[in-house]
Amino acid sequence: MLRVLLAWLTAVCVSHSVTAVEFANDSALLQLDKDVIYTLSNSPTLAGDEKWVDDTALLERTPSQYLHFKVQVSNQRNKAIPVWFSVNFPAMKELVVTDGNETWKTGDSSPFHTRPINSPNYQFPSILAPSATTEFSGYMRGEILRYSFAVATPEFISNLNTKTLQRDMAFFGAMALLTALSLLGYITSRNLVFLSFASFIFATTFWFFRVFGYAFELFWPNTPSFNDISYAVSIYSVLMTAFWVLYQTLARQDHTVYGAKTIKLFCAILPLLGLLLWKTVGLDVALRLPVVLFFPYILIAGIVIYVEHKRGSDRAKWLAAAMSPVAISTLFLVIIALFDVDLYLEPVATFMTGLVTTCLFIVSLTASYMVKVVQRERDAQKQAAQLKSEQASKLEALVKERTLALEQTNSTLAELAAKDSLTELPNRRTLDMFVDNTFDKTLHDHDALAIALIDLDHFKSINDTFGHDVGDEVLKGIANVLAPFNDEEQVAARYGGEEFAIAKRITQPNDNQSNEAEEFAKQLEALHYAINQLTIASIDDRKLGACIGWTLCKDSDDIVEAFRRADKALYVAKDKGRNLIVPAL
Ligand code: GH3
Ligand code: MG
Ligand code: MG
Repeated sequence: MLRVLLAWLTAVCVSHSVTAVEFANDSALLQLDKDVIYTLSNSPTLAGDEKWVDDTALLERTPSQYLHFKVQVSNQRNKAIPVWFSVNFPAMKELVVTDGNETWKTGDSSPFHTRPINSPNYQFPSILAPSATTEFSGYMRGEILRYSFAVATPEFISNLNTKTLQRDMAFFGAMALLTALSLLGYITSRNLVFLSFASFIFATTFWFFRVFGYAFELFWPNTPSFNDISYAVSIYSVLMTAFWVLYQTLARQDHTVYGAKTIKLFCAILPLLGLLLWKTVGLDVALRLPVVLFFPYILIAGIVIYVEHKRGSDRAKWLAAAMSPVAISTLFLVIIALFDVDLYLEPVATFMTGLVTTCLFIVSLTASYMVKVVQRERDAQKQAAQLKSEQASKLEALVKERTLALEQTNSTLAELAAKDSLTELPNRRTLDMFVDNTFDKTLHDHDALAIALIDLDHFKSINDTFGHDVGDEVLKGIANVLAPFNDEEQVAARYGGEEFAIAKRITQPNDNQSNEAEEFAKQLEALHYAINQLTIASIDDRKLGACIGWTLCKDSDDIVEAFRRADKALYVAKDKGRNLIVPAL
């Protein structure tokens, strides 16, 4: 303030005249800012009675007015020196520069290719005549005017540009990589924290890209109208994404971060506020707003992080650590800007380093989080696999148990299906199957099957005399006699009611078949005898008689006929007076 007042007093008292600056060193940049003098006019041409001052803070300029400047550079040597008159970090709509010989018209509102030298800053090629003074003069116009004048040899400025380009590209490369990593973190985890990191890093990178002038050259060399728009979007985005990072990192489930609602509201109205400022006060103020707000942002971030740390957030201290490099480097910039302190550190490079370090921290947070997520996923997979194998073995055991039960039920059913329920002898079905199987597989041409049908004599009268239950008991008694006849080669079955049947495979060679049949006959006789000898108390030891008709069957075509023959023989026995064995051979 004091400086402004002093400068104003000087301006009122003395009008400045130009003093020539000596160009002595070929390998250095000759800064001209202190020696440039300025004046204002409403048209590009000067009337000649304007007052020139050496500090533009003294000039109350409106965006439509022209700011004229001039500076003299003297060449003491008696040879011509080619130089570039340089305007660094420019921000102006219109720029006209002349060295007395040539005039260049350019500016931020002109396409990139209209610049005398196509570099992010404005360079004007000139020649300092031998032992003479060259005056560089011109004017500029625009809402925002920022500039710094210098002169140096083309070689020196080219080298400087190359170095700056290398520094910037390293910075952009690092930032692009960090943006990609954060984005990858977001894609794999769908966690908004990483998206906020990516947005912040990208917005910051783009802001630098725009400020350093690369965007003019690469993205819209022919569309200068994007300059203001892109600057506004990038600087507002940087501030808003910085808030997003702060709140998204500290967000926890079922917990509202300190001041979240206020900040959300603020971020929602911030762009509107910017537009309002632009339309009422001017673009310069509107674009300065987010920059100025970075200082309260650092303060707010500090408070929010502290409160959340006290409330038990485990991310708060990490975020504080992550933000400290950018906060410290911003402080450096502020100190340099406000107090004109000549620090050893180069301000832009310091800020860039701070920013990259912060972003690196942020990405490290991302990485550590990702590792945790991966570990958690792996643990979950292991647990799931374990559970699966446990379930599988349980299922296997259950299947085994059920299969066993089913097998038991099946065998019980098979037994039930094969047996007669009263006598437990094989039933007629079993006998029929035995006969069929015999002819299907086992029996050869010379083999045969002996069939005997047994019918109890006067069984009806037993039922009538002693009752049905006693009749059943008698049937069981007969079954006991028949049961031992069952083996691999023969089946003794209950054929129905009080009728029984025996089927026996005779596997002897043809010659001896009669012997085999004789043996069967003997077996039947033994059976008949056993029936006759059976004594059952409940029928008063009444003697039991039975008729047996039997035959031999040689092939499957004969089977029906064979049963008929046996049946007939049985009736013959009945007719002959009962309790007889009759063969039908
Ligand atoms: P025959 O000497 O002519 O054979 O005279 P029978 O009395 O034995 O005559 P038949 O063979 O016609 O009679 C069979 C009787 O067997 C008729 C039926 O009441 C009786 N019966 C059939 N099945 C059973 C049964 O499961 N239990 C009892 N208790 N009786 C039965
Ligand atoms: Mg009968
Ligand atoms: Mg009978």
